[in-house]
Amino acid sequence: MGKGKINVSVENIFPLIKKFLYSDQEIFLRELVSNATDALTKLSHMSSIGEIKGDIGNLGLEIKVNKKEKTLHIIDNGVGMTSEEVKKYINDVAFSGAEEFLEKYKDKKEDAGIIGHFGLGFYSSFMVADKVEIITKSYKDESAAHWICDGSPEYSLKKSQKEERGTEIILHISKDSKDYLEESKITELLNKYNKFMPFPIKFGTKEETINKDEKGEKSETKTVDNIINITNPAWTKTPSDLKDEDYKNFYKELYPFQFDEPLFHIHLNVDYPFNLTGILYFPKISNDLNIQKDRIQLYQNQVFVTDNVEGIVPEFLALLKGVIDSPDIPLNVSRSYLQSDTSVKKITNYITRKVADKLNSIFKNDRKSLEEKWNDIKVVIEYGMLTEDKFYDKAEEFNLYPTVDEKYLTYPELEKKIKKSQTDKDGNLIILYAQNKDDQHSYIKNAKEKGYEVLLLDSPIISHLIQKFESKKEKVKFTRVDSDALENLINKEDNKVSKLNDEEKEKLKPMIEDVVSEEKYTVQLEPMDSNSLPFMLAQPEFMRRMKDMQQTGGGAMGSFPEMYTLIVNTNHELIGKILNTRTENKRKRLIKQSIDLAKLSQSTLKGEELTEFIKRSIDLIK
Ligand code: ADP
Ligand code: MG
Repeated sequence: MGKGKINVSVENIFPLIKKFLYSDQEIFLRELVSNATDALTKLSHMSSIGEIKGDIGNLGLEIKVNKKEKTLHIIDNGVGMTSEEVKKYINDVAFSGAEEFLEKYKDKKEDAGIIGHFGLGFYSSFMVADKVEIITKSYKDESAAHWICDGSPEYSLKKSQKEERGTEIILHISKDSKDYLEESKITELLNKYNKFMPFPIKFGTKEETINKDEKGEKSETKTVDNIINITNPAWTKTPSDLKDEDYKNFYKELYPFQFDEPLFHIHLNVDYPFNLTGILYFPKISNDLNIQKDRIQLYQNQVFVTDNVEGIVPEFLALLKGVIDSPDIPLNVSRSYLQSDTSVKKITNYITRKVADKLNSIFKNDRKSLEEKWNDIKVVIEYGMLTEDKFYDKAEEFNLYPTVDEKYLTYPELEKKIKKSQTDKDGNLIILYAQNKDDQHSYIKNAKEKGYEVLLLDSPIISHLIQKFESKKEKVKFTRVDSDALENLINKEDNKVSKLNDEEKEKLKPMIEDVVSEEKYTVQLEPMDSNSLPFMLAQPEFMRRMKDMQQTGGGAMGSFPEMYTLIVNTNHELIGKILNTRTENKRKRLIKQSIDLAKLSQSTLKGEELTEFIKRSIDLIK
């Protein structure tokens, strides 16, 4: 059949390909295995529609390493090629693909991240090989062909004696790519890219122990083919055929080193207007959003592409795990292009909707289980509500508000509960919350004693979300239990008479102001319950929240001063005592001590102040 010259304008295409793809070299194996899989799929399809008659045998592929010859073999029993087809598909088609690739990326070295996604196909084998051979026999009744190319545009094509149907690709691995002759390296790559391919991939053999009787007393080790992949992963099956157990097992197959079980799963399955299948899992999510080892994996026709799904999966779902398989996601484009692509937008919206629907159905059908898992998943939901308006609207139905007593209320339930008792004079509904049960313990206790409902909102992004809640709901104010706005409520409820008369009050105020710094504290006298604390420190909700928001990113700019309202309970015994202490030093010490106690109850007494407090306390008791 002779020799020939491949028809390309770029003479030196191979060195260029090598240079370009250096960092992504390993994709050659994925490309060759994909081609073999395509050939098997074609054959099985043609057989199923009767275009190929008779038995087609067991379909599969095999990878072999020959260290001595320094060759790597990818063998399949798919459709094969006639010599005409080799000329057409390898010399013309594959080459034009390589050329097109080079045209596109010649000047864009910085976009290297996407190169691996570009199906450079067959020619990517020249990244690691000096010489490539194809020995192939078509399913058609024609003799086999043997194509050899050493990396220059010249090739030779002759007849071959190959009898069985299919294709063998032989790579003569180059000196600087010796790694690809190591079994461990090939195993690693097959595991990464081909773990869920639809046809069995054999790589070497392994020892298997077979029990010959039930008790396992007689057992025998046998050498069997080492099949590296799972050909029918759960996501390719119909959801109704799968049990909970199957989903959990698949999770283990995906993440063999993950020991926590997933909390629940979402099976994705659409074929119009785009094709997408997959399974997403909600793992246990800690508040530390930075720990994120195993990520969602993107496949195309069961071939692993990437675990960077940015731009495809909505950002708030990046904490989920699992698999998405879609041939409709364009990958040979930049991330920013991806985000503006309308079909990708549809995919993103679909995923968001499915996640919301799943959560809603758990809420409706098994609310208890949603409540039990709430603290492990709420970060995702809160982040979703914050960043995606479409999700916010859906999530309003199932979003739960946990209370400090571990009740989980929907918004309407919460509203009904507090409507009567928790409104301020302007008719705003005041929703009380704590961010930390321990730090804000005395304030929670105080509020609970007054019969108020207190939520426990402890996620790192909650301040941002509260801000959004308030903007979406009318006449609703969120107020942390230690905020000064709480006073509006407490006053209304208590409506108590003060034990001190006006003259005493006028005397008391400057005594306290004298001890605390003026810029930081506003002193406010309140006739509260005599069982309440003598002094309480309250921060303006707004200031504190803005600070919080700055710390977790975003929010208003500028620095916020630390400001407190120092609430003095004029009905407390101790206040009377302060008022009646004649010795100035002693009085000052009493006030200082009391304010420190207030700080201590809020866990804000730290450093030098704490040291002084301890010293003063010892002096007082000795
Ligand atoms: P693509 O797979 O995107 O078409 P490739 O460069 O990977 O591009 O392959 C070019 C063509 O060569 C394929 O479309 C196919 O027709 C043919 N081919 C490659 N490998 C095989 C194989 N193992 N068996 C049969 N045909 C193959
Ligand atoms: Mg290909």
